[in-house]
Amino acid sequence: MDELRHLFRRAADHAADYRLSLPDRPVGVPVDQAALNKAFAGPLPHASTPPEQVLAELVAAAEPGLVATAGPRYFGFVVGGASPAATAADMLATGWDQIAFNAVTSPAAVAAETAAGTWLKELLGIPATASAGFVTGGQAANTAGLAAARHQVLADAGWDVERRGLPGAPAVRVFAGAERHATIDRSLRLLGLGTDTLRAVPTGPQGAIDPHALAAALRDAGPGPTIVCLQAGNVNTGACDDLRRACDLVHRYGGWAHVDGAFGLWAGASPVTRHLVDGLEAADSWACDGHKWLNLPYDTAFAFCARPDVHAAAMSYAAAYLVGCGGVPAGADLTAESSRRARGFAVWAGLRELGRDGVAALVERCCALARRFADGLTAAGFEVVNDVVLNQVLVGFGDDARTDRVVAAVQADGTCWAGGTTWRGRRLMRISVSNATTTEADVDRSVAAIARLAR
Ligand SMILES: *Cc1c(COP(=O)(O)O)cnc(C)c1O
Repeated sequence: MDELRHLFRRAADHAADYRLSLPDRPVGVPVDQAALNKAFAGPLPHASTPPEQVLAELVAAAEPGLVATAGPRYFGFVVGGASPAATAADMLATGWDQIAFNAVTSPAAVAAETAAGTWLKELLGIPATASAGFVTGGQAANTAGLAAARHQVLADAGWDVERRGLPGAPAVRVFAGAERHATIDRSLRLLGLGTDTLRAVPTGPQGAIDPHALAAALRDAGPGPTIVCLQAGNVNTGACDDLRRACDLVHRYGGWAHVDGAFGLWAGASPVTRHLVDGLEAADSWACDGHKWLNLPYDTAFAFCARPDVHAAAMSYAAAYLVGCGGVPAGADLTAESSRRARGFAVWAGLRELGRDGVAALVERCCALARRFADGLTAAGFEVVNDVVLNQVLVGFGDDARTDRVVAAVQADGTCWAGGTTWRGRRLMRISVSNATTTEADVDRSVAAIARLAR
């Protein structure tokens, strides 16, 4: 018995040592992928190995290939770092080995998801009556939201898509901004709607959908099953669609408004940024990540639906042993997974740790730090291309080749990490400030490193 305790403690010690090293370790490290692969490879042994030795071998093999994405100077993609309480709760979820399938397999997991779901809706400004499915990421949340959309717009046309599928079904028209996230396209593929169904609506200079163009597209399409994918938080610029206006338009045409707000929906958690997502409560479904801006462990995201019955009709599978939770759809009724990790514990713990004010402060601090980044790089003579309304900054360093060289140099240098992107035909550096532990000093140090390398 002592051996198990010792093993778990060692794993926790390793994790803590690693986390504590993050502020000081180089952010980007040159990785020899072939050597890494080799360290893990080899024939599967016939004989068993003592757990302690397995753990030691794993740490030795993985260490050289770990990326400090959880650290304070990682600004690539849109990446947070899981908070202490959420990480510890996730370790417990694994220790408890719970199945968040339904209230029979883990009453505690369902209760945690139910409570955390209520808190999330409150924080984001989503109606309290909405359902909340605990899914693996923005991709899965978009798929669940669009599955609910597909159900309802076809039901309105007299078609039961869950039973009859899409062959012979009335054509569904899907509209989305030209600057939508690529996961929308994959969700449409997975749902059998296909990407040809998608009509791209022109966007304004910052990538938000042009409401006039949306109105024209809906008018031209005429009556019929209609889904519109809106966006809160463009991955490049942070721009948010005018949700109030867009939802109003969509509903006037009898359509379903889905909001992909993987990180941008968190603007709703602060009075400073809430205006960016004004009107979000009018949408029919929402996709939001926990593992990005909320600084929760992977893989954590939420699929909200204004109509729990529609959400469950699209996602649940009927079986005699399914119970829901007091007649309310819960657990596996709202996700594409059946047996799954009890991610609600970490969500509950992360929200409890921050509190309402802490979530607002996290959003405000990241936005302020993004502006500090923009100001610092502008002062150093570089071009900030976007309106820095949220936590995203786009920077140009001259022509495309030069910008790509600067991005590569920054990644090799190790002071901080930022990715490259193509925006409106131009290569740019993309900086996302999403980590709760990033300080002004981290930003200043990163600006200095970027300026030094660019010169
Ligand atoms: C990150 C992101 C997604 C995909 O989310 P995952 O958690 O990676 O699945 C979808 N939409 C937007 C706007 C995003 O930023």
